[in-house]
Amino acid sequence: MELHIQTCQFCGAKSVRNLLVRKDGEEDKVYVQCTRCKSLVARYIIAHRGYYHHGKGFESYLRGLNRGGEVMSPKDLREAFEKVEEYCVKEFENITGQLEEEPEMRDTRDKPPQ
Ligand SMILES: [Zn+2]
Repeated sequence: MELHIQTCQFCGAKSVRNLLVRKDGEEDKVYVQCTRCKSLVARYIIAHRGYYHHGKGFESYLRGLNRGGEVMSPKDLREAFEKVEEYCVKEFENITGQLEEEPEMRDTRDKPPQ
């Protein structure tokens, strides 16, 4: 697994914000903006069924599928949601665990000098 902390290519800041854009007839997109110099850092296109909003629950997941025009049975929907939730939580734990283990991956650039 490769792990990268999103960094602004213009000013070196590691503090960014995600702007989620939804437009009819287009895939959902995320624009990543540097919070320091306000530059555009990156854009992501969210894959079909790719969006998971942690802690927002099943209803939120259903709304996402609905926007994509998805038709599934209630049982399949529930199972799909539980799989996505479990997968995201596990992978996030792995990722943050790896950050703890690798000192060079720790976010130090934005901290004030000691
Ligand atoms: Zn910047």
